[in-house]
Amino acid sequence: LSAHRIPVADYVAGITAGDRALLARAITLVESTNPEHGRLAQQVLQELLPRTGQAVRLGVTGVPGVGKSTTIDQFGMNLIAEGHLVAVLAIDPTSKRSGGSILGDKTRMSSLAQERNAFIRPSPSSGTLGGVTRKTRETMALVEAAGFDVIIVETVGVGQSEVAVSDMVDFFLVLLLAGGGDDLQGIKKGIIELADMIAINKADGDNVRRAERAAADYRHALQIFTPHDATWFPPVLTVSGQENRGLKDLWAKVLEHREKMSATGQFQARRQAQAVSWMRDMLEDRLMGALKAHPEVAAELPKIEASVREGTLLPTLAVDRLMGLMGL
Ligand code: GDP
Repeated sequence: LSAHRIPVADYVAGITAGDRALLARAITLVESTNPEHGRLAQQVLQELLPRTGQAVRLGVTGVPGVGKSTTIDQFGMNLIAEGHLVAVLAIDPTSKRSGGSILGDKTRMSSLAQERNAFIRPSPSSGTLGGVTRKTRETMALVEAAGFDVIIVETVGVGQSEVAVSDMVDFFLVLLLAGGGDDLQGIKKGIIELADMIAINKADGDNVRRAERAAADYRHALQIFTPHDATWFPPVLTVSGQENRGLKDLWAKVLEHREKMSATGQFQARRQAQAVSWMRDMLEDRLMGALKAHPEVAAELPKIEASVREGTLLPTLAVDRLMGLMGL
């Protein structure tokens, strides 16, 4: 049976029973650009919604080479040893490679890839950031319904994808290196402001002291840069993904954050705000889709753009004209 011929009820029953094959097929529907698949995916999601929301949603970012895959692989294995079910999703709108992205490749997380209590899903291999994040949010709902209780969303530390990821997780971890070119001056202040925690990776061998020094510098920088929240101040840890050092502390911090933020209601407020922002992103997506699909707009748009380019039509008036064509 091809994915869109399976009844909604079968998807729902299969996914809630933890059926990996059906889970993978439902994700394929979510990622499909076919409107019929899209409608089916929405029905499945709607049914599964009551079974979502219980997982710990963790975002991880860092530049290529910082050790994301090594660290997530080991961190995930630690969690599985404690009885958790771990899903790793990736967001990488920059990747155009077919058959998966540079992130989330199974070969990059070789231990987790062999674990039946882990699920690794690379970023959809094409699309805009908005499209990729919508799909990742929906995939997150599916894997939660399938019983995964820790969801790690990974992204490369470049571009706008960090903001998108921090907008779908409970806890945002930024991985850095000591003196890795992203030292205090170089690091993007915007990313630091999103961080719920910073971990200096590769704190092993000769590098331990440098990592500790970098951590002290970042603690100092956070005092200056970060708006002070009475409940949570982002800790700075040193870890080694390769040597499994500091990863237990890292998980302890994630749980401590959850507990403290839940007690004040900030956890729930963050989730609620994220649901609204998910809705707004989708609305924008749909509106742009409707605009581009509108026959008169499609016919007129190239001419209107040409006039704007030549300077014979003001951008404001161009927008008025397009909205008029849409009847708005
Ligand atoms: P990613 O691009 O962020 O996913 O980074 P990788 O996990 O692929 O790691 C990049 C390189 O750094 C690889 O050669 C790893 O073996 C190495 N590496 C990753 N984590 C550590 C660590 O904790 N300590 C050391 N010494 N090397 C590491």
